[in-house]
Amino acid sequence: MKKDSLYHAIHIDIEKCIGCSHCIKVCPTEALHIWDGHSNLNTERCIDCDECYRVCPVGAIQVEDDGLAQIKQFTTKVALIPSVFMGQFPIHVKAREVFKAIQELGFTYVYEVEEGSQLVEDLITEKIENQEKTPIISSFCPAVLRLIQVNFPQFTDNIINLKTPVDITATSIRKQLKHKENVGVFYFTPCSAKITSLKAPIGEEESVLDGVINMDSVFNKIQATLNNVTPTVKKHKKEISNNAIKPDHILWSLTGGEIKNLPGTCLSIDGIKNIISFLDRIETRGCHEIDFLEMKGCDQGCAGGILTPQNRFITAQRLRNRAKYYSEYYNENPEESPIYHTDGISFDEVKTLKIKPRSIIKFDSDPMKALRKMEQSQKIEKILPSLDCGACGFASCKALNRNIIEGKADLEYCFVLQRKKEEIGELTSKESKGVLEKIWGEQKFKNNI
Ligand code: SF4
Ligand code: SF4
Repeated sequence: MKKDSLYHAIHIDIEKCIGCSHCIKVCPTEALHIWDGHSNLNTERCIDCDECYRVCPVGAIQVEDDGLAQIKQFTTKVALIPSVFMGQFPIHVKAREVFKAIQELGFTYVYEVEEGSQLVEDLITEKIENQEKTPIISSFCPAVLRLIQVNFPQFTDNIINLKTPVDITATSIRKQLKHKENVGVFYFTPCSAKITSLKAPIGEEESVLDGVINMDSVFNKIQATLNNVTPTVKKHKKEISNNAIKPDHILWSLTGGEIKNLPGTCLSIDGIKNIISFLDRIETRGCHEIDFLEMKGCDQGCAGGILTPQNRFITAQRLRNRAKYYSEYYNENPEESPIYHTDGISFDEVKTLKIKPRSIIKFDSDPMKALRKMEQSQKIEKILPSLDCGACGFASCKALNRNIIEGKADLEYCFVLQRKKEEIGELTSKESKGVLEKIWGEQKFKNNI
C-alpha cells in the first residue's frame, strides 16, 4: 500500500463533539484545538497515541478501518494475529478454537505475529553486542516513533533500523505462500497507530501488509462463533497451538517483553507520559549506561491498546499463563523445540530505512523569514499571560503563540488580552463575545444566566 504521510486513523466526528476540550488537554503534541465549537486535528503533529480517544466523554473520536469486507478482494486471505488477541479470551478457550473461528470469518490461514520475534531478538542482541550508538531505541511502537519524530528529533538516530515482528512475519508468510494465488495479509490491531502505519509506514516506502482490522470489531464476531462451540473434553496431555513461538515471545508486546532475553542493560517504559518524561530527562542528562530502550505508548504495552476489548491487566495475566503453559510443555517434551519459519529471511529484508525527524518547519524555510518569525514569537511570548487556561481553544499559551506565527490564530483569541483590550477601549465586549463564539461555538453562549 502506498504512503500517505498525513493520514491518521483517528478522526473527529464534529456532529458528536461537544467541544469540552478534554482531548486538547491530554494530547502530548498539542495536535488538537477547539474551533467552531469542536475539536480540530493538526495532521502534521498527531502521533496516533490514542490519548484523546481515551478521554472523550461522548465517543466523538473514532477510529477508521476498512473492516472485514476488505479481505474479499484476495483469493488467499491471511490473518496475522498478535498474542494480545489471544489474551482477550479466557484461558480455557484454546488457541486452536480461536484460529478455527477466524477461518470461519473467511480467512484461509491464521498465523501469529510473534513468529518473527526470535529474529528481531537475535538482531537486537547483535547490535547491543556491537555497541552501536546507545541507547538503542526499539522500533516496535509506531506511536513512540512518531513522538520521537515530532518532539525529540535528536533521538531519531538512536532508533534501531529493524522491522517489527509483524512485518517480519508478514514477509516470511509471503515467502511461504509464494505459490498461492493473490495473497492478502491482514493484521488484527490493538491500536490506531498500527492502522496509520499501513497507510503511512515509518521507515518503509510501502507496508508489507494489505490491511489492518480493528481487533475490537472482530472480537465480537469470533466470540459469537465460540459461544456455539461445545467445549472440548479436558485432555491430560499438554498440547500447544503454535510451535513457531518461544514461550517468552508470547509476552513480546507487553511491557518488558522485548528485553527479557537481551544482553546488557535494558530498560522498559510504558505510557506516553512516562516516555515523554524519560526522554526529557535523557535530553538534558544523557543516558549512556542504558544499552537498549523498549518504549510502548500504552500502559501494559499492547494489552492497553484502545481497540482491545478486555481489561489490560487481565489480558497481561492471561498471556503470562499462556507463556507458562508453553514453557511447561517444552520442559515435558525436551525432544521438541520451537521451529522458526523466519530462518530464510536475510538482514536486507528486515531492515528499515533511516527514520528521519518529521519535517515540521519550525518558523520558515527561508532563514530571513524564520528569524523575523522567531523574534515575533518571542514578543508574543512576553504578551501572553502563561496561564495555559485553554480559553483560546489551544492547549497552552505556547500552542497559541505557534499558531499565531503560522497565521492560523490571532492574539485576540487570548481571554486575558481581550479583557485588557476592552479596558483600554481597543475591543468592545460584543467583539470579544464574537471571538469566543467563533472558538467555542454560538451554542455555548445561548444559555441564560
Ligand atoms: S492521537 Fe495522540 S497525538 Fe493524535 S490528536 Fe490524539 S492525543 Fe493528540
Ligand atoms: S474530548 Fe475532544 S472530541 Fe471529545 S467531545 Fe470533548 S472536545 Fe470533542
